[in-house]
Amino acid sequence: MSQANLEYHWMPYTGNRQFKKDPRMIHSADGVWYTDDRGRKILDGHSGLWTTGLGHGRPEIADAITRQLAQLDYAPPFQFGHTGAFELAEKLKELMPDPLNYVFYTNSGSESADTSLKMARAYWRLKGQPAKTRFIGRSKGYHGVNFGGISVGGIAANRRHFGQGVEADHLPHTMLPENKFVHGMPETGAHLADDLSELIALHDASTIAAVIVEPMAGSAGVIPPPVGYLQRLKEICVANDILLIFDEVITGFGRCGAMTGSDAFGVVPDIINTAKQLTNGVIPMGAVIAHEDIYHTFMEHGGPEYALEFPHGYTYSAHPVACAAGIAALDVLVEEKLVDRVAAEASYWGELLHTLRDKPHVSDIRNYGFAGALTIAPYPGEPLRRPFEIAMGLWERGFLVRYGGDTIQLAPAFVMERPQMESLVSALGETLDALA
Ligand code: PMP
Repeated sequence: MSQANLEYHWMPYTGNRQFKKDPRMIHSADGVWYTDDRGRKILDGHSGLWTTGLGHGRPEIADAITRQLAQLDYAPPFQFGHTGAFELAEKLKELMPDPLNYVFYTNSGSESADTSLKMARAYWRLKGQPAKTRFIGRSKGYHGVNFGGISVGGIAANRRHFGQGVEADHLPHTMLPENKFVHGMPETGAHLADDLSELIALHDASTIAAVIVEPMAGSAGVIPPPVGYLQRLKEICVANDILLIFDEVITGFGRCGAMTGSDAFGVVPDIINTAKQLTNGVIPMGAVIAHEDIYHTFMEHGGPEYALEFPHGYTYSAHPVACAAGIAALDVLVEEKLVDRVAAEASYWGELLHTLRDKPHVSDIRNYGFAGALTIAPYPGEPLRRPFEIAMGLWERGFLVRYGGDTIQLAPAFVMERPQMESLVSALGETLDALA
């Protein structure tokens, strides 16, 4: 049991009352392992929070951070620059699909979401179409917790407490009944993108700024796109002059066995939002990467040279320590060819996860890359309790996974070995059996 007084930290996305009765305290981490405050080894089955694909305790990142702290611990990002920010931007340009070449830094996925939405509206205003302000998200989408993000997001539980947001419509999600237990991308569901045409018919394209989706939905429980779905969405956006934003906070930097979800699924959007794996989760950082036409539009129409083309940014945008962490983390990702490793091992991971198909309470399993989720059948009247119990059962067995809504979510580190994956899946199976 921990020595710390647990009273005063109001924990995020946590049942505080339950936690404080039965705390789960993480003490240290190394590779794919955590150690808790009881000295138990805990296998990290979620790469932190979709953040730490390279594994914990990477000396390359720690060294880069330490060196950076000694050289330049902070620099104001408005009107002043430092080399690291430009170096990381150039690296990101190389890793992102062409022609997404211009990098705007944030500190989180939520900030990336709201930054991209503001960027889209400002872009249309500069193009002389100020009426293009509407956003279209998707049911079950997650774009963080700021007002823009929860408005385009499609998870009611995240929005219903908070009143008026930003006006947004939502496409249907793609979890069709016939897609249950499909391995990888489902064949059925591309037609659901056509609902965008209906929303355009309703509102008129002249009022719509952007469509925002996760190429593979993550937080709602790993929903890979149906074959052809993202292509269809893109076609409709192009035909109607609507920007397409991919929220790649989870899919960016390897999770899908490609550098981006855009690469994995073969569709290039106008804007890609990232965070999490960008620094291996070690330092908070996000980045919004824009199509070169968007950047050039701001530069052309941004007024006199000393004027701000985009009056937006954060005190900690392009933080030197975060940039150093990002450079080091991306170097490790590339040098160790970990994206290829995910691509090569993804089907092994997926098949392994689907062995849980006949376990009690499992009503669906989905997988792609190094990600997977189980939908858990609810207790009558208590839809969220069983996933909580499963995650707690796993914690007691020495495994960390995420529960969210009616799902259990898994995201092995890119460096996780087969026997570790096997022990994770078998512990999940045991936990499901024990609950029966
Ligand atoms: N977008 C997506 C797709 C995410 O998965 C997340 C976080 N899970 C966010 C945005 C929000 O990121 P953050 O928690 O860093 O604000």
